[in-house]
Amino acid sequence: MNPYTDNFHLSTHGSDQNLIIVSNRLPIVLDKSPEGKWEIKSGSGGLVTAMAPVLKNRGGIWIGWPGIALEEEQNLDRILNAETKNFGYRLKAVHLTREEREKYYEGFSNEIIWPLFHDIAAYCNFNPEYWSAYQQVNRKFAEVVKQNLARSNFIWVQDYQLMNVAIHLREMGVTERLAFFLHIPFPPLDIFVRLPWRFQILHSLLEYDVIGFQTLRDRRNFFQSVKTLIPETRIVGRGQVMTIRYRNREIRVGAFPISIDFNEFARMAATKKVAEKAWYIHEHFPDQKTILGIDRLDYSKGILERLKGYRNALARYPELQRKTTFTLFVVPSRRSIPQYATLKTEIEQLVGAINGEFTRSGWVPIHYFFRSLERTELLAYYRSSDIALLTPLKDGMNLVAKEYCACNLEENGVLILSEFAGAAAQFQKHALLVNPHDIEGIADAIYRAFSMSRDERVARMQGLRQIVRKYNIFWWVDSFLKAAFAKDLSDFPLLQDYIPKEEPLITDAISA
Ligand code: UDP
Repeated sequence: MNPYTDNFHLSTHGSDQNLIIVSNRLPIVLDKSPEGKWEIKSGSGGLVTAMAPVLKNRGGIWIGWPGIALEEEQNLDRILNAETKNFGYRLKAVHLTREEREKYYEGFSNEIIWPLFHDIAAYCNFNPEYWSAYQQVNRKFAEVVKQNLARSNFIWVQDYQLMNVAIHLREMGVTERLAFFLHIPFPPLDIFVRLPWRFQILHSLLEYDVIGFQTLRDRRNFFQSVKTLIPETRIVGRGQVMTIRYRNREIRVGAFPISIDFNEFARMAATKKVAEKAWYIHEHFPDQKTILGIDRLDYSKGILERLKGYRNALARYPELQRKTTFTLFVVPSRRSIPQYATLKTEIEQLVGAINGEFTRSGWVPIHYFFRSLERTELLAYYRSSDIALLTPLKDGMNLVAKEYCACNLEENGVLILSEFAGAAAQFQKHALLVNPHDIEGIADAIYRAFSMSRDERVARMQGLRQIVRKYNIFWWVDSFLKAAFAKDLSDFPLLQDYIPKEEPLITDAISA
């Protein structure tokens, strides 16, 4: 029996240690009632779903920014303690002023690291003030961690907003084992070296004892930067977890593709509410194949390329006209950053141009929505869409792709996925992989998905669902903790266990 397939497996690796999770945001939603009272709800993301049982089991702590600026609420610690008593683990807030938040989060994290690590260096605003704020805020996070240390601790820091926490903890004399997981891609050397603070960031990363990336390619990029910029490092081992030797220390570095709670998505997709909504959506488009795109408004998501691909498909394969409809949801995000506002305008102009060119009476090719979706609606679209079309130019993983598969209960949908999404490494045998820069390639894939036999669709979707079911979010937590605590890495499973052996990695070939 595989412990991950039926239900979650409660990780016990290192369970004698106090587990401290550190992330930019606490996993809660804070709302002020009309009477002025704060209400706190537990968040619903994949990370909290996976971590909550492990934290409860050990009585751990989650440290992060609570979602409101210091100026808005001075008594937050008291409110948090009172309102989260029954969570089963403690939440500790890192208080940030509005200015700190802007410069560290919107500035350094989202105007420098995000575009750079997604290979779009031209969008970076290398403002030195952002770097000062990043250090200052990462130090604040480190201080809260230090204040909450128990006798023995395992500290697991999440994502690109907090790469520098390790160096501050070491400066404060903390000698505990530190772990870090990067949820976004790690860029190739030629791109990483543009970062004015490349040495500081690398040195901080090397203060962690365990580092996780989404894919082998991200890890390889990281190794290349480490070897080139810090030549006294030695990289040894093979397989899913390797070791960097540096200054008498051993740093474990692995690839752990993050995932979703498959069973929960599949269960919710099967509920009556979702089934009815899915039926309603389907009825709206009789005799048509529905194509779905869901993304945050972000230039890394390849939304314009996808629209151009669909336009090319309608022009080169006229049988797709009236027989397909593309529903595109763009979820508002980071609109204070100029490139995001420009992107929104460009998307809307292109949607308008394509609809203007191809619309016929009774048929509109693109249904465009600029808003977020309710849970039921999201699952209903996943469940009812014949094709998911996801073409990021670069993406750490792309959870939408995994959620689409989990909710595709009829097992006859087709996933068209960019080969530059982290998920492509796991899905290459079963998804139709495309290069998002190849407009005709996207169009050909749409046509192929449209004309694919039912047998082939079912075989592919069953393969995809098997991978997402097996390598779910609980597997992710467990394998990361196992890598951190295993005495001997030689018995650690090799990556081949979850990446198909038979075919070479396209993504590997590209960056080799
Ligand atoms: N999502 C959401 N609200 C929406 C649409 C999507 O919260 O209206 C969720 C979706 O279920 C998925 C996440 O947003 O879990 C997007 O994750 P992904 O890895 O695809 O991209 P990211 O936005 O993290 O770059």
